[in-house]
Order: sequence, then structure tokens, then C-alpha cells
Amino acid sequence: MTKVGFVGLGIMGGPMASNLLDAGFEVIGYDLVPAALERLSEAGGKPAASAGQAAAEADIVITMLPNHPHVEAAALGEGGVLDSAKPGTLYIDMSSIRPETARRLAEVGAQRGIRVLDAPVSGGEKGAIDGVLSIMVGGAAEDFAAAQPVFAPLGRTVVHVGPAGAGQTVKAANQLVVGGTYALVAEAIVLMEASGLDASLGLDVLAGGLAGSRILELKRGSMVAREFQPGFRIDLHHKDMGIIVDAARDAGVSLPVGNLVAALIAAARAQGYGSLDHSALLKVAENLSGAAA
Ligand code: NAD
Repeated sequence: MTKVGFVGLGIMGGPMASNLLDAGFEVIGYDLVPAALERLSEAGGKPAASAGQAAAEADIVITMLPNHPHVEAAALGEGGVLDSAKPGTLYIDMSSIRPETARRLAEVGAQRGIRVLDAPVSGGEKGAIDGVLSIMVGGAAEDFAAAQPVFAPLGRTVVHVGPAGAGQTVKAANQLVVGGTYALVAEAIVLMEASGLDASLGLDVLAGGLAGSRILELKRGSMVAREFQPGFRIDLHHKDMGIIVDAARDAGVSLPVGNLVAALIAAARAQGYGSLDHSALLKVAENLSGAAA
């Protein structure tokens, strides 16, 4: 039985660890929050006392943490994942973080004989629960091949997109499209409702035509009902928009729509919606038109 060390058992990491357990992996997990460790025990996993302990006992280590400072603390710090893992261990960071940290993890890993992949995901909490995430992977081809058994219970579309850091750049592109789509669906709802129309009926038609998307499919009902329980928090999408803006600067390109979406998500945060789902961009669209319910 392959042992997986799993660090970060939140909205995404919790169900991902459960799916690995269901697939027959032994999982030793760590999170700062005791309740997350209790959920892991209930699902059949073993709680660890630190990220380093989870890594030391494992053949494969996964981190699923909010942002690069958390990954750096768990992976690069003294007694962290790269300090504690055995040479030959495969370390897969599945968090969405800046590409330069992913490249740094790969460099430090290589110095210690640890194989490192960046493998951020898309598909949200539901995709994590159902084990159907899209996984975009950066790193060496042979390490990607070695990781297939652990990706299989987590994702459906799993693609090797390039060298270390490439997975994170593709994830940034993903978040650009997701943020922009939410912003436009929010404006469509504001327009239809202000015109005296039933936005649910309107979105049903949109979902079946060229404007259709996975976001319309999964989220139109909760958006019209103003249910903004996360899901994916505005705070995390704000972090991702920062990664996108920096990546665009590094690549020497201009992303005007992306910058506008970044400003709308920053407004959502400034208006106090940081812990709501990113579909709460609807609240910003309403506030701009004085249409808030
Ligand atoms: P979350 O906040 O629910 O979970 C993160 C977990 O990490 C928390 O339980 C927290 O206690 C733990 N943690 C933080 N620092 C730690 C440390 N140093 N050691 C151990 N545990 C630590 O976040 P999430 O929604 O699960 O997102 C995780 C990552 O996945 C983020 O990078 C996010 O952008 C990305 N992501 C999220 C979604 C989504 O829909 N929620 C979708 C795709 C990608």
C-alpha cells in the first residue's frame, strides 16, 4: 500500500484525502485546524503532528494550502516537507500559488533527491468531492508518469503542461476565465432583474446556448437565490488575480479585461465579502447599480 502524506485538509484537501483513502491509499495528514484532523480520522486516515512528520512517513506527499507563504512554511521551512521526506519521495503541490515558488520547490527538491511536481486543480469543491478535478501538471515527464496512480482518484482531466511552474501558469489562465465568467454572469443577472425579468428563466436559456458554461450549469441557481456559501472564497480568487497580474507582467503582455476583473474582485473584498463564494461578485455588480437586495 502506498503511503500518502497530505498537508492542508480544507475545503479541497479534505475530500481529496478521503478519495485517496477510498482508493486504497494509506493517508497520513496534517492541518493546523484540529477539526480537519478529526475529519481525516473519521474517514480512516492517520493524523500527523506536523507537515514534516506526514512527509517523513510517506512515499508521496501532497500539499493543498491557501497560498505561497503557507506552502513555503510547510515545505521549505526547517522540519518541513523537503527537510523531512526521504530521497526518492514524490512531492506534489496541488495548491494554486505563484509559479516562482513552484520552481523554487523543484530546485530545492532536486538538491535533496526529492521529485517535485506543481499540480494545481480546477473543478471546485464539488469536483474535489466527486474526484473529477482538472489537474494541470508542471515538472518532469517521468515524475508525471509516476504520479498517475495518485491523480487517478482525484481527477478526470489530468494533463502534463510543461516544466516546473507550468501548471501554475495554466492555473492562472484558468482563474482568469473563471473570474471573468462570474463577473459577466453577475452583470447578466443585474440586467435581467432590473428589466423586470425572471433571471432564472433567462439563465436557463443562456445555459443551453453559446453563452453556456460549467459556471452557468452549476451556479446559476445559487446566484439567483443569493446563496454565497463557499465553495471558493473571494479571498482566494483575489490571491489568484494577483498571480495573474504578476504573470502577465513577467510575460510582457497586457490583460485589460483581467485587470478589470481583478479590480472587481478587490472591490468584493473591500466591501466585506472576502469569505463568501466568488459568485458573490454579483453583490459588487448590484452595488454598482444601486440594485442591492
Ligand atoms: P481552505 O482554506 O479551505 O483550506 C486550506 C487548509 O490549509 C486549511 O484547512 C488550513 O487550516 C490549512 N493550512 C494553512 N496553513 C497550513 C500549514 N502551514 N500547515 C498545515 N495546514 C495549513 O482552502 P481550499 O479552498 O481548500 O483551497 C486550497 C488551495 O486550492 C488554494 O490554493 C485554492 O486557491 C485552491 N483551489 C481551491 C478551489 C475551491 O473551490 N475551494 C478550487 C481550486 C483550487
